[in-house]
Amino acid sequence: MNIEVPQNVEILINKLNNSGYSAYAVGGCVRDSLMGKIPHDWDICTSAKPDEILSALNMHNIIESGLKHGTVTVLIDGQLYEITTFRCDGEYKDNRRPESVRFITSLREDLARRDFTVNAMAYNSSEGLVDCFEGQNDLEDKIIRCVGDPDKRFNEDALRIMRALRFASKLGFEIEENTKSAIFRNKKLLKNISVERIASELIQIIDGNYAENILLEYAEVLGIVIPEILPMVGLEQRNPHHVYDVWTHTVYVIVNSPHGKVMRLSALLHDVGKPRCYTVDEKGIGHFHGHPEVGAEMSRKILRRLHLDNDTISKGELLIRYHDQRPKLSPKYVRRLISKTGIDAFPSLLELKRADTKGQNPVTIPEKLEYIDELDRLFHELTADGNEFNIRTLKLTGSDLIEMGISQGKEIGSILKEMLDMVIDGKIENDRKALLAEVRRRITESEEVVL
Ligand code: ATP
Ligand code: MG
Repeated sequence: MNIEVPQNVEILINKLNNSGYSAYAVGGCVRDSLMGKIPHDWDICTSAKPDEILSALNMHNIIESGLKHGTVTVLIDGQLYEITTFRCDGEYKDNRRPESVRFITSLREDLARRDFTVNAMAYNSSEGLVDCFEGQNDLEDKIIRCVGDPDKRFNEDALRIMRALRFASKLGFEIEENTKSAIFRNKKLLKNISVERIASELIQIIDGNYAENILLEYAEVLGIVIPEILPMVGLEQRNPHHVYDVWTHTVYVIVNSPHGKVMRLSALLHDVGKPRCYTVDEKGIGHFHGHPEVGAEMSRKILRRLHLDNDTISKGELLIRYHDQRPKLSPKYVRRLISKTGIDAFPSLLELKRADTKGQNPVTIPEKLEYIDELDRLFHELTADGNEFNIRTLKLTGSDLIEMGISQGKEIGSILKEMLDMVIDGKIENDRKALLAEVRRRITESEEVVL
């Protein structure tokens, strides 16, 4: 089995060989190459210790930051290569990364500490593939299987639970039975893992090309990370628009959303408010009044708890808040919605609405998609001139009102809002003169009333 190793990797391996050390490409790059994919990066493992790597390579473009962990990172032609000494992990505490690592000379032992068989293969052009744990078989059978005893491996580092789901979701692999049952048995250990590492894996899981089955099957594992997911699982909607329970619907919305962190997280959480808003009317029909607002608030808290960046949090919250709005297809109502979301977020809102539709009762899908297409068309028509209607773009400011003798903050706010609504509704041009005249007219009118 031949793998095409990039020239720079070949050069690094040769340099290490020439100084008497063994060296291999290892992990993800070997896995991806065997699958016929182009690896996004190449990691190298070697028998040389970090200082020996440095002198064997005798290069200037070394990134120092990883050195204390025994990883040498080199920059060649704008690409980073990580070179790591063969190691076995020291003791694990709290189901997290090992307290220490021990450098060793055996490649086999280094491969044995890796997470899954498909990630535990090494390659160089003189020896070919080194596959001590039947990784190639599992790759052909599309199986994620722990190297060694899964219970032990998840106890050492519980992040591997999320990694298993991530690789399955990205590659379209099945998780092997023993590994699978160990995932369910040990899921609670995820509580010991830092939220940043969990969030990074979670985003990749929901972004995977094969996320559907994983999300349906492992909801209770994700429920350790986001407990708010659990009440959605199996919650029947009893509503003619829906044929799936809330979680199954959510999964279809996720996989029908465009890829990317904000879109997929918004899809994941768009209906998280439903369980709290569930009511059944006298006809036995289920309703979820207010779920977008409740869901938006809950999402903000969840995404904060996962330490996501503010931009993701606020975009997600906004999309969730407005995901269920269905304005009448006239400029007035569409403009009102645009003024709430802003022009920039509106296309994402349309995408979320499309994905949401695709997860609903198939009978109603074509009609609803047609509505969204028309909303899309109107959005483009109304914003073709780049005009956005909100308080910031209104051609009337608070200072204008103060100059006219209105002093109360509250009153200023409400007048601005009323003027904005008139502009949005097309009752007045967004023109300074016209707006000032309208305010003046109102002042005179109210004075007359007082007199
Ligand atoms: P990707 O293509 O997503 O980068 P990868 O397999 O390269 O996939 P990395 O997270 O970059 O994944 O890790 C590189 C390699 O290090 C893995 O292939 C695996 O052999 C090993 N590894 C990484 N994290 C762990 C872990 N938590 N436990 C055991 N081995 C790990
Ligand atoms: Mg990698």
